Amino acid sequence: MPFHSITGHRRMISLLSRAAAGRRVPPALLLAGPSGVGKRRVAQALAETLNCQEPVRDAEGLTLDACGACVACRKIARGMHPDVPVLEPGESGSIKIEQVREMIDRAQYRPFEGRTRVVIIDDADAMGGPAQSALLKTLEEPPSASVFVLVSSLPDTLLQTVRSRCPRLRFAPLLPSEVAEVLVRDHGYAKADAVAVASDSDGSVGRALAAQAADAGAARETARALLSETARRSDPAKRLEAAKLLAATKGSPASERDQLAACLRVLSSLLRDLGVIASKADTRVLANADLQDELARLAPSWDEDRSSRAFAAVDRALAALERNAGPKIVADWLVLQI
Ligand SMILES: [Zn+2]
Repeated sequence: MPFHSITGHRRMISLLSRAAAGRRVPPALLLAGPSGVGKRRVAQALAETLNCQEPVRDAEGLTLDACGACVACRKIARGMHPDVPVLEPGESGSIKIEQVREMIDRAQYRPFEGRTRVVIIDDADAMGGPAQSALLKTLEEPPSASVFVLVSSLPDTLLQTVRSRCPRLRFAPLLPSEVAEVLVRDHGYAKADAVAVASDSDGSVGRALAAQAADAGAARETARALLSETARRSDPAKRLEAAKLLAATKGSPASERDQLAACLRVLSSLLRDLGVIASKADTRVLANADLQDELARLAPSWDEDRSSRAFAAVDRALAALERNAGPKIVADWLVLQI
């Protein structure tokens, strides 16, 4: 998808387009911002612009944008272009050092088909310390005709040495109207539905889609059951038994992930409420006021300290899911933390 078809982020896109026209694209870039707003699409559009066979040119003949239709553009859009490899986390939720090394080896050669190799590392924060260190030398002395685009919704967890090599482009959340536009255009939503879903999406298409895929009622039931199970049981084996509640949803891996994420968001809100009760704050601020009696019964097991630690663990679990970690691994890890 070329720059001109991307929704939102106009200032950023104009910056990248002018850099491409002037052949001034830095050899390493960090696209940072909330998940689900289109960072990876922008990275791919940059790769298309740098390799398009029929580019859109300005009056002086400089390349401003890709056509979106030539062989190179179509290969890049499908992730099939040999000069535009995409590194992303696998089922383990991490980008392995072997993946990084293999990509570095390939980057030593000239581009095979295109003009510029563009290596896209999506969820770059899913690289562990050693994998990032392995990449560092390449970022310091990038091979000619290569651009490395790191994409991350948790940019501050990257090593300082990596961050300092990559100028950062900051993505903001989309406007609700922009989220709605993408839902209609790319996901077949009716206009009215799209507007309703977009209003509760925090400016993220990804979040809007995940919320729609999940069953909110079931997510709340599961979160309540998990809280009461883990309130009493400290035996790890019994806790892992409780994890089965979380990962019980059957379906495609994507829908399991969406359902678990929905459940974790409810859990997070319940834990915040338990913290409110434990700190004897005004219960009128409870997000789940209808469950006040149930929460009050659980409160003795969830003091302020435990509920805030659990809250942080749920946050980390959600981040791991966004990086594609397997739902079962995340559920097992979480029940041992809370
Ligand atoms: Zn093209």
